[in-house]
Amino acid sequence: MKELKELTRQNIWNLAPYSCARNEFSGRNASVYLDANENPYNGPYNRYPDPLQLEVKKQLSRVKRVPEECIFLGNGSDEAIDLMYRCFTEPKIDNAVAIEPTYGMYKVCADINDVEYRTVSLNDDFSLNADRLLAACDDHTKLIWLCSPNNPTGNALNRDEILKVIDAFEGLVVVDEAYSDFSSQPAFRLELAQHPNLVVLNTMSKAWGCAALRLGMAYASKDIIDIMTKVKYPYNINMLTQRQALEMLRDPYEIDKWVRTILLERSRVIDAIRMLPLCRKIYPSDANFILVEVDDASKTYNYLVDKGIIVRNRNNVHLCNGCLRITIGTKSENQELLAALRTM
Ligand SMILES: *Cc1c(COP(=O)(O)O)cnc(C)c1O
Repeated sequence: MKELKELTRQNIWNLAPYSCARNEFSGRNASVYLDANENPYNGPYNRYPDPLQLEVKKQLSRVKRVPEECIFLGNGSDEAIDLMYRCFTEPKIDNAVAIEPTYGMYKVCADINDVEYRTVSLNDDFSLNADRLLAACDDHTKLIWLCSPNNPTGNALNRDEILKVIDAFEGLVVVDEAYSDFSSQPAFRLELAQHPNLVVLNTMSKAWGCAALRLGMAYASKDIIDIMTKVKYPYNINMLTQRQALEMLRDPYEIDKWVRTILLERSRVIDAIRMLPLCRKIYPSDANFILVEVDDASKTYNYLVDKGIIVRNRNNVHLCNGCLRITIGTKSENQELLAALRTM
């Protein structure tokens, strides 16, 4: 890995971050807060939330087994994705390399930040070829984007190929593990200590059932996290979100139960769709959705919309011709989907 100073934009490396009123007094007991120009009425909403989200990080650290100082919390993973560009890529000069197909936000954020976005196709079976990915990198490649299990393909990328990329690349490798709770593969977030150039993304939006909260995580070395933290908006995670996240983290076994139910439903839905004449292929899934190739994706999509059932049409996505991406719902939602497909 190159020196972090070399990978960080110079203006960001030199940045003196905004200092919040409440950061300046250091944790001694206080009961009269006259430092932040808050309104003294309308508690608890009158107070600014903890800018460093220390309590949430403490509980998350326990549940996810990542040291507190290695956790960044963002307004969804999307904030962390955008921050990777803002912290580590020079617009118009640097570039990022990503697999294709994958999650759309890596490219959107590259475009917003005016950073060149290079794609390397996955193999036809959606597996990763590390050598081809590395061959697309040059001296100005600062970031590599991997997503495992990948969206929209559903498969976990081969572990040895990911490790090859992490070990060989001089810049930062982001592994988006938004769907890792649904996968039997070991999570890369548990290997941060061995890989100083690794950044792992997680989210509360999928297995944790909290998409409305907008809470995403980045896990990385303390040095990387410190840079992201100094660039973020001071109060990026609001009080209600922090509070509800703590509530969720108190009972992680409830999430395990949801995941187990969803995985059972996933196999049931796969078995049922496989029997349908319109089904050409179901790709293996390590996530809470399946990618299904059908005879006529757009016709099937529109038919389902007419029945009030919305799936994702991935027909125009690279390597996903004729494919629908179907999220696994509750048993009765899945029943409705299957009934509709049977009578098409
Ligand atoms: C859904 C998803 C996310 C979640 O993004 P949030 O902003 O945290 O809701 C992140 N990465 C991938 C690949 C996803 O599919």
